[in-house]
Amino acid sequence: MGGQLWMIHKEIPDYPGLVCADGAEMVERMEAHLAMLSGIERIVGEVTEIDGEEGWVKIRGGQGEEVLGAEAVVLATGMVRRRLWEPDLRAWEGRGVEYTASGAREAFVGQRVCIVGGGDGAFENALWLADTCDCPEVTVSSRGEAFRARRDFVEQAKAHPKIRLWAGSVLEGVEGSDRIEAVFLRIHGEIQRLEVGALLIKIGFAPQSQRVVGQCRLDPQGYVVVDATQRTSSPRLWAVGDVCTPIDPSLSVCVGQGCLAAREIQRFLRPV
Ligand SMILES: Cc1cc2nc3c(=O)[nH]c(=O)nc-3n(C[C@H](O)[C@H](O)[C@H](O)COP(=O)(O)OP(=O)(O)OC[C@H]3O[C@@H](n4cnc5c(N)ncnc54)[C@H](O)[C@@H]3O)c2cc1C
Repeated sequence: MGGQLWMIHKEIPDYPGLVCADGAEMVERMEAHLAMLSGIERIVGEVTEIDGEEGWVKIRGGQGEEVLGAEAVVLATGMVRRRLWEPDLRAWEGRGVEYTASGAREAFVGQRVCIVGGGDGAFENALWLADTCDCPEVTVSSRGEAFRARRDFVEQAKAHPKIRLWAGSVLEGVEGSDRIEAVFLRIHGEIQRLEVGALLIKIGFAPQSQRVVGQCRLDPQGYVVVDATQRTSSPRLWAVGDVCTPIDPSLSVCVGQGCLAAREIQRFLRPV
């Protein structure tokens, strides 16, 4: 775990036996636990290649590129936020276009906001922005005609005086100079211009399985397929955490899967 933990800026209430103020505190606690264990070597770098059949990984780090032999490899690369490529918003990032609200609160305070997305993330953020960031209006634009978010979030948003829900609408473009000033949404064939000071993209997450494409089975969404012991279809490759958990990923699920994989690998390496 690591990538997504750094994105958690709120209390983590659902990890059994350990309530942390945020992800940074949980990282600190887990690192302290790791430091108590022996036999662990830490290498900082990017894994560029994995061979789950022969058993090795290639790592690019401060010392250049090195290849580590491994009798077993555990993939725990998590997920990344999906970005919007159509329209391409890269040039607007940091100029009113954000992928996280709690991590960039100042970009939203007092602004009219458009949120693209129809899931829990979009609705949770719409409620948070309307209630705590002094936003005069928050419009949630979702491509689908029905919202995918939890029913209680949708009900609360529908009843909220500052929130507008635009189902069946598609973001076609943005306008502005230094910062974003308006968005264009196509709704049932008609283009509408909406003045906004910030745009939040909440279109979900994608598993980071690109390093094992062609090595093991992936499901149609790109999640690594594992058996009941977290083993993939590649003989020396296990996977744990969000990269192999399409339904309800969470910290406690990741940790449980990690423990299971470790026990199985122990049996694999030293069969009785
Ligand atoms: C905003 C938010 C709030 C959340 N709140 C909660 C909560 O309250 N309770 C809860 O239980 N869960 C929560 N979650 C979910 C939880 O954070 C994840 O389920 C968990 O962190 C996933 O752990 P992971 O190890 O699978 O992946 P990650 O935590 O994403 O870690 C993956 C790591 O792999 C690294 N990596 C990826 N590719 C490579 C590569 N090629 N080379 C080297 N390193 C690589 C990444 O840099 C990262 O450090 C939340 C998630 C988010 C985004």
